[in-house]
Amino acid sequence: MTSAPDSADCLFCRIVAGEVPADLVVSTDEVVAFRDISPVAPIHVLVVPREHRPDAAATAADDPAAIGRLVAAAAEVASHEGLDDYRMVFNTGPGAGQSVFHTHLHVLGGRDLAWPPG
Ligand code: 5GP
Repeated sequence: MTSAPDSADCLFCRIVAGEVPADLVVSTDEVVAFRDISPVAPIHVLVVPREHRPDAAATAADDPAAIGRLVAAAAEVASHEGLDDYRMVFNTGPGAGQSVFHTHLHVLGGRDLAWPPG
């Protein structure tokens, strides 16, 4: 699978480019992390690669090491937010709740998190 080009239609490409405002937590050469606009936990941060791909599976297929770096960045975000216990989530596909088709890793914490998820 090849990565799609950045698109004016991609919300997260526009946030990465600074064209849409977001509450940034971390910004590096590779990833941008910002607070979810509709948080489902007291801490809810999205960790987003700058490079556009539609989902985590596509990123893993094209650049497996990028997934490792994304998870490492999410762990740094959790530490920065003071979280010892937290959940990382890649919703992959609309049936699993994915609504933005640019790879992103949810970091959720600050409350007890039930399992299994809904
Ligand atoms: P998904 O449902 O694709 O796994 O996650 C997309 C997330 O993006 C959702 O949790 C949603 O609340 C969040 N989101 C959608 N639009 C915006 C926005 O404009 N700004 C921010 N910060 N988050 C957004």
